[in-house]
Amino acid sequence: MVSKKIKKALEGSSVIRAMFTEGKEMAKKYGAENVYDFSLGNPATPAPEAVKEAIKRILDEKDPMFVHGYMDNSGYEDVRQAVADNLNHRFDTHFDFHNIIMTVGAAGGLNIIFKTILDPGDEVLVFAPYFGEYNSYAANFDAKTVAVHPDPETFQPDLDDFAAKFTEKTKAVIINTPNNPTGVVYSDATLKAIADILKEKQKAYKKEIYLVSDEPYRELVYDGQKENFLTKYYENTIVGYSFSKSLSLPGERIGYVVVPNEVADADTVIAGINVSNRTLGFVNAPSLIQLAVAECLEEKTDVAYYDKNRTRLYEALTGYGYTCIKPEGAFYMWVKSPDEDEDRFVEQAKKYHLILVKGGAFCWPGYVRIAYCVSYDTIERSLPAFEKLAEEYQL
Ligand code: PLP
Repeated sequence: MVSKKIKKALEGSSVIRAMFTEGKEMAKKYGAENVYDFSLGNPATPAPEAVKEAIKRILDEKDPMFVHGYMDNSGYEDVRQAVADNLNHRFDTHFDFHNIIMTVGAAGGLNIIFKTILDPGDEVLVFAPYFGEYNSYAANFDAKTVAVHPDPETFQPDLDDFAAKFTEKTKAVIINTPNNPTGVVYSDATLKAIADILKEKQKAYKKEIYLVSDEPYRELVYDGQKENFLTKYYENTIVGYSFSKSLSLPGERIGYVVVPNEVADADTVIAGINVSNRTLGFVNAPSLIQLAVAECLEEKTDVAYYDKNRTRLYEALTGYGYTCIKPEGAFYMWVKSPDEDEDRFVEQAKKYHLILVKGGAFCWPGYVRIAYCVSYDTIERSLPAFEKLAEEYQL
């Protein structure tokens, strides 16, 4: 029989994936064009042409023994140096290759960070609502997540609740801005306040507490906002980045971790992350795509594409009477469930072929998430369905 741990994991299996599967079943039944699937954060724009060109060039020009061979567990040194140079140039940092570890996406990155810093029984504070997989990643190392409440109006973190949630067992805090599922970008003031509280708590508990910044949506910001980089706020910050959304490469499984020199005992942390990449079975990030992204670090996804969806959907939904948090980043919209029972609301939405994900999947019930990383045409065609659903609830 399966282990007790996996049995528990199977019981709480991903709601998002379940909705995605259901959406596919509905598409078979009603025709794909008649189902509006807003369940999954799969990018809607293709990877930039430069990625394809780089892959072709690498395959044509480089020695296959190099392109497909084993390497250092942290990745190709040149690739890591290219990432460091790119960050230094954009964010005025001072990294070199030894600060960068190439990873199997953000998920792989978070798991090697957690394996390195967490002991059984440790607590990881997470700002709700949050990407539910964090619970599994912490549980992988017998640690547990502790949710910090948001401000119910703005969905910025509630800083009093944050300060109140620290205990002797707090080892790390995960932060994700731009945020999945709310689309909120944490303000400079919020980030400074979070850093101040962390500094205070490190002193009070006489231990290192890490800020783990999960940044797959770093470049996906709207209205001319500047991209942010969190290591400047707090010294013990470890960054996990992914190219899944920024270059539309989620299936390729590629990202990186940054451990700045300012992190306490940085060399040991880096060595731990390197070993974790090997012992968790990733061994190293996929080789060909490592080489390709290193040549595409200045490339950008089509933010305007998502912005058009964002604007149309937000205006239409608020017009129909829904209460929505206006997204400032990522490609998600956080909408208040007009039904006190959000499960019932998600079921009602399905009647109109709308596939939404309930807030409970992000540990914050009472809302639903709309992943608007779909075609503009899907947005347009889905609007009458949202309107009828609003009428049903007399919004
Ligand atoms: N973190 C957040 C907040 C995400 O939304 C996702 C994916 O949707 C991940 C991590 C995992 O990203 P990756 O596909 O790069 O592993």
